[in-house]
Amino acid sequence: MPIFKPLLSKYKEFLPVGKNTPLITLGEGATPLVQSLNIGPSLGCKNLYFKLEGCNPTGSFKDRGMVLAVAKALEKDKKKIVCASTGNTSASASAYGARYGLEAIIIVPSVEIALGKIVQAMAYGAKIIAIEGNFDQALSIVRSIVEKMDIELVNSINPYRIEGQKTGSFEIIDEMGNNPDILCIPVGNAGNITAYWKGFKEYYEIGKSESLPKLMGFQASGSAPIVKGTKIENPQTLATAIRIGNPASWQGALKARDESNGLIDMVTDEEIIQSYLKLTREEGIFCEPASAASLAGLIKLVNDGEDISNKSVVCVLTGNGLKDPETVQKKSETKIETIDPNVEKIFELLDD
Ligand SMILES: *Cc1c(COP(=O)(O)O)cnc(C)c1O
Repeated sequence: MPIFKPLLSKYKEFLPVGKNTPLITLGEGATPLVQSLNIGPSLGCKNLYFKLEGCNPTGSFKDRGMVLAVAKALEKDKKKIVCASTGNTSASASAYGARYGLEAIIIVPSVEIALGKIVQAMAYGAKIIAIEGNFDQALSIVRSIVEKMDIELVNSINPYRIEGQKTGSFEIIDEMGNNPDILCIPVGNAGNITAYWKGFKEYYEIGKSESLPKLMGFQASGSAPIVKGTKIENPQTLATAIRIGNPASWQGALKARDESNGLIDMVTDEEIIQSYLKLTREEGIFCEPASAASLAGLIKLVNDGEDISNKSVVCVLTGNGLKDPETVQKKSETKIETIDPNVEKIFELLDD
């Protein structure tokens, strides 16, 4: 008996998993929900939790949806999968593709993709094509490819991705014994906020939670089409995972916001970096910049007067900080001194 219960088996009754769907796994899901030790109290909140989605097998929540999308591709006897990606979808698609014998073709922007993510796709042996363009253009190319080729599209416009990703809300409720009052989440292509809302509603409907959380989604201010109500032609942000100007699940995000009585707001790159460093320095949690938009958003809410003192709050930290070593090198301000191998010198340095 395996000790680890694969996500697709664990939540089978809530997923479009039939007798012909292979229950594949790479160890996705069951990620830690870690209580905040320092940031929560400093915001006057005793019940702040971080959902560490960077602990998934390829280092982001994308694995939750990818495992189901790939299972469905196998069920349909597909031989190839394709996706556009800001990095994490391609890492995930390449890993599951490699494991289950599917050729993975990934289309990525040639610049502004975090080093660790492209390195993952290379390691897993995907066919990588970089375009001199952005994610939105890559996605539109992928949409044309699937019209002309027998290949499974595994972006979040594939409904199985959303279905798999909704297990994030199930885990939170299973662990907390109820829904949180507030869920903060970064928003890029808006598949994840759509998925979380779907999951929360499904669990509520069968009595697994007493109520529904408010969903608070956060875009980066240079890539905030939903907040601004218009597509952004040339989105900018150092949080490359949410550098998206025309989200595929735009309507799903609006629905999550409106039905949950929540909001979708934006945070600046500066606010994102402050939260990103806060998480590492004050909590020992190293997430990627896009993930820190959830905490940056929460801090902004509190500064704007939201009272969270009696609320339970979950910030979804969507991806692992190791994916983006270049941002740390630019932003951490940590200096490394190189000296002779001499103990006296070391004591001198430690004295300052
Ligand atoms: C994909 C991704 C996001 C954005 O999720 P969407 O579903 O596109 O809104 C945020 N953070 C990380 C780390 C991601 O990989």
